[in-house]
Amino acid sequence: MPVKKSPAPAKKKRVTKKVPLRKAAPAKSTVAKRVVKAAAKKPGVKKPRGRRRPVGPEAVHEIFARFQKDNPEPKGELEHVNAFTLLVAVVLSAQATDVGVNKATRALFAIADTPEKMVALGEERIRDYVKTIGLFRTKAKNVFLLSQELIEKYGSEVPPSREILETLPGVGRKTANVVMNMAFGEPTIAVDTHLFRVSNRIPLAIGKTPLAIELGLEKIIPAEFKRHAHHWLILHGRYICKARRPECERCLISDICTSPEKTI
Ligand code: SF4
Repeated sequence: MPVKKSPAPAKKKRVTKKVPLRKAAPAKSTVAKRVVKAAAKKPGVKKPRGRRRPVGPEAVHEIFARFQKDNPEPKGELEHVNAFTLLVAVVLSAQATDVGVNKATRALFAIADTPEKMVALGEERIRDYVKTIGLFRTKAKNVFLLSQELIEKYGSEVPPSREILETLPGVGRKTANVVMNMAFGEPTIAVDTHLFRVSNRIPLAIGKTPLAIELGLEKIIPAEFKRHAHHWLILHGRYICKARRPECERCLISDICTSPEKTI
């Protein structure tokens, strides 16, 4: 007897789920992370969109001519009475405000304005005088040691050489440049956080490190303005071209500046 075939079961329809399209996640390369991190670390130094070019030579001349007209003899704001106290004040000013340093050094310099007096005071008492300043333990030690070294190697004088200054405890290139400029009248450019920001913003010299900015500015600033250039730029950054909100409405060079952070 022939076997009756049972009807084949109805084929199930294949149901394909609709998956909503998702946006590709942003690339998380190490380089991208580093850029974001660096931008977060340096308020006021935004990564410019597209490639920016420094202003040209005529604009550079005009910028410094205006700074000069406005303030012919700019002065640093760290109080000192001689080259030695200037050196000490600058060493103490790393990551601290000039106002804070001045408060501490007024009493210190009244009793110790030479390397001998500073050594006689001793590290512990120096520490007491500067304890309101950040990193005071290390700074007090450096002030004591550099005073000792000045006595032993340089006849208690501050040597007029950037290279030698940089060998002293607690003295880096920026400190050496400030001393060379203010104590010895050399046209050095000391790049602090304000100057670094301002130069990148305008932009005068563009760079990722203080040294790149220093060397860039050395190339483009006309000789007649070099001596005071770093003071003009530091003061401009401290009081006008501030990190969080530049006061562009009060800025002498707003018509020349091409910063994307310009507020007017
Ligand atoms: S215009 Fe604004 S951003 Fe440009 S230099 Fe002046 S204060 Fe700074």
